[in-house]
Parts: sequence; structure tokens; C-alpha cells
Amino acid sequence: LSPIHVIGGGLAGSEAAWQIAEAGIPVILHEMRGVRGTDAHKTDGLAELVCSNSFRSDDATSNAVGVLHAEMRLAGSLIMRSADANQVPAGGALAVDRDGFSIAVTAALESHPLITIAREEVTGLPPEDWDQAIIATGPLTAPSLAESIQARTGADSLAFFDAIAPIVHTQSIDMDVCWYQSRYDKVGPGGTGKDYINCPMDEAQYNAFIDALIAGDTTGFKEWEGTPYFDGCLPIEVMAERGRETLRHGPMKPMGLTNAHNPTVKPYAVVQLRQDNALGTLYNMVGFQTKLKYGAQAEIFRLIPGLENAEFARLGGLHRNTYINSPTLLDRSLTLKGRPGLRFAGQITGCEGYVESASIGLLAGRFAAAERRGETPSLPPETTAFGALLNHITGGHIVSEDEPGKRSFQPMNVNFGLFPPLEPGAVVRPEGLKRFRGKDKALAKKHATAARALEDCARWLGR
Ligand code: FAD
Repeated sequence: LSPIHVIGGGLAGSEAAWQIAEAGIPVILHEMRGVRGTDAHKTDGLAELVCSNSFRSDDATSNAVGVLHAEMRLAGSLIMRSADANQVPAGGALAVDRDGFSIAVTAALESHPLITIAREEVTGLPPEDWDQAIIATGPLTAPSLAESIQARTGADSLAFFDAIAPIVHTQSIDMDVCWYQSRYDKVGPGGTGKDYINCPMDEAQYNAFIDALIAGDTTGFKEWEGTPYFDGCLPIEVMAERGRETLRHGPMKPMGLTNAHNPTVKPYAVVQLRQDNALGTLYNMVGFQTKLKYGAQAEIFRLIPGLENAEFARLGGLHRNTYINSPTLLDRSLTLKGRPGLRFAGQITGCEGYVESASIGLLAGRFAAAERRGETPSLPPETTAFGALLNHITGGHIVSEDEPGKRSFQPMNVNFGLFPPLEPGAVVRPEGLKRFRGKDKALAKKHATAARALEDCARWLGR
């Protein structure tokens, strides 16, 4: 069998190479470090962790990333095996000795008889004679390759920064205060009338909110990131600093909206949330990209009427991050449309985090190996963490931009909001519990979603 080429020996590329080789197919893993560095990596080791040493929660019963850990272990993940072998104490989280972890991954790949590691920069799209390749070059993809990807996909399809607005679990929004309505009642193709949720503010609430935004603690940019502010993408707190009225004439303008709970009183300002996934379980806060620290975000955004008890699937941010517009560019098995055999994996596909990147590498590796054997790749069920994340990247993300029906795409960690809802009756009240609401019920739902995911994953893997 001719080899499959994997470009980038980070979290995703290392896992992809391992999965392919374990399937009995030769791999050439191209990694530029050793020849050329990035602004964040400090070593030449494969799967280097560039910042924190945490893989986050290892709880596979009530935490989505813990479920993803468990699924990856079931699928024979090298990243998880190396993390488990280099674990350091961190309560319920899986944290690792970063050097030991990277050394273990590097040693396993270097000693695998089917893996060749080429220390070189790949400067353009893989040549046509690499009939199967995976691009896993991550958030800091070298410029010449990034330019080639952009030339192929179009300027709008490759981002160099993410401008992330917080995402809220729909069930935590108080609909006795908020209401569904698109501005001027515009409903575009595919619109359901539930494209936007609106949170009203009176003048005093607005002023208190602006004061809190201006006083909030922010995180700075790293020197090499520059300051990536551009029109239409200013952090919300920077807009607030530019003038007390700026937000009320920008993302928080009340025009074209009527409060369904109080139609005769015009709101002074409105925070809009836009549907973020096809399931309708997540909504993002329109125009609320921010450099506020996570703690400050949660505190300040819960001042918004209707969001007092908001649960955030993701908080906002603004980072240097190279990623493609996967929902339009990739098919369900991560192949670039119009270029059979060329897949993307890892953070460049628009997932976020070490574990998520490695898991998408795992899937891309398995899909490529299946194709090399002449089989159709088997996709994980959407009820699994693998499937939920893959669905976010390749298609389940249907949202309106300025008009309903349009799509927008921002990177995301795995979270329970990406999983399909449970079947009716799947959550039963535990015996002896008189009241079964609020936190108890939410926890029971997580348990049931996690159990369903692991069962379906085991079945998918033929276990
Ligand atoms: P990477 O792990 O970055 O791997 C990509 C590899 O491709 C690199 O080894 C790179 O050298 C190589 N490469 C790039 N271009 C080429 C080329 N043209 N030819 C050959 N090789 C190439 N995530 C977390 O979960 N926790 C954190 O604390 C965290 N902090 C971060 C801090 C910073 C500054 C950045 C930039 C990212 C951070 N992330 C964090 C995100 C993290 O980078 C990803 O989650 C993860 O590393 C992505 O895995 P990946 O394999 O897609 O990319």
C-alpha cells in the first residue's frame, strides 16, 4: 500500500498518523519543527502542549470532554494512552507532565515500523501524487501553506483570528423575560421564527451594564499576535469604552424589535442571541466577541435581563487562530470538496482544544485508512462525542449571520449542547427523590447523554 501523508505532528497529526499505522497502512508524517518553529511551540517534540498542561475534566459520566476522553481510549488513542501514562495530580481533571507526554508520543511514533517522520515544512497544498493526505497544521499553520489553502478555498474561507462570542445553553435563558423575533421580523430561507432571542434593557440597566463592561478585567494579546482589531470585530468592552452610546447604536440597537412581554414599552437597548446549532440547543450572543477574562464575562453577562442564570457552553475570546470554514468546505468525512483524498484535521477544522483536535485527528486517520483499504469511511453516530463534534465541524452548524438562513462558523470545544436531545422518557426520577428539577434534572440529563454516547461509541467501534 502506498503511504498516507500527514502534515503537522501536533495533537491531531500525531493521532492521525498513529491510527493509520495501527490500521496497517504506511504513513509519512511531515513536521516542520526542527527546521522551522512557530511562535508558541518551544521544542521539537511531537504533540507539544503549547500552553496549559490540562486535558480538562476526566469525568466520563457528566462532562462532555470526559466523554470524549473515554471514546478516544475506546478507539485506541495514542494521545490518551500517553496522557494516562504521564498523568500528574489535578483533582478531577486529566493533567499531564508536558515533557513526558510529548516524549511518549514522539517515541511511539518514531518506533512504529509503518511511520516515517520527515522533518520539513510543507509549503503548499499536497501535490496530486500524494493521493491521500491530511492537513493538521493547527492554529499556527506556516504562512506559505496557509496562503495556498486560502488560494484554493477563497479569502473568506480561511480565518487568521477567531472572534468568539459567548454561547449560551438555550434552556438556561429566561423566556418569561426574553422573546423570539428577528429584527423587522425578517425570516429568510430556512428561518423558523426562532432565529433570534432578544433580551430587553431599560436605560438604568443599560448604563449599569456599560459601567460593568468598562470596569471588567481583560486579557492582553501576546506580542506576536499583534492587535487584530478590524471593523465589525471590536471587542464589546472596547466598543463600550469608545462612547456610552456606541453599543446602543451597534450590536445592542433596539430597532425593529418589539418586546412580546411588554409591547407598549420600547426597550432602551436589546441584546440579541442567534441560533447557533441546528438542534436549537445553543444561542450565541451577537457581536459580543471579547477579551474580558472568563470570570468577568460570566459575571457581567449575567447582568443582562433574562440571562441571570445563563449557562455558557463557551465564553468569548479573540485569538490568533488559523481555521477554515469547514461546514462549507469539507464533507462529512473531513475531505475537502472537489479534492478527493485530501482531508483536514485538528484545530484548523474549527474545533478548539488539545483533546478535540486530537479526536478529529483520530477520526481523519481512521477515515483515510478506510478509504485506502477501498472502504467507505464509517461515520460515528451523532449521539457520540466524536459524532457531535464532527457534526459541529462539518454540517450541524446552521445559523444566520445578518440575515436568517446564512451560516457563520466559529471554533468550539465539545459540550453537551452539541449532542442531540435525549429520547422522551430517557431521564427518570431517581427513587426517593421528591423534587426532580433544576440542577438534579440537568445532572441526570448529562448522565443519560454520556451513557448513550459511550454505548453508541462502543457499538460503532464494534466492541
Ligand atoms: P498543533 O498542535 O499546533 O500542531 C500543528 C503542527 O503542525 C505543529 O507541530 C506545527 O509545527 C506543524 N506545522 C504547521 N505548519 C506546517 C507546515 N507547513 N509543514 C509542516 N508542519 C507544519 N488548547 C488547549 O486545549 N489548552 C490550552 O491551554 C491552549 N493554549 C493555546 C495557546 C496558544 C498560544 C495557542 C496558539 C493555542 C492554544 N491552544 C490550547 C489550542 C491548541 O493549540 C490546540 O488545541 C492544539 O494544539 C491543536 O492541535 P493541532 O494538532 O490542530 O495543532
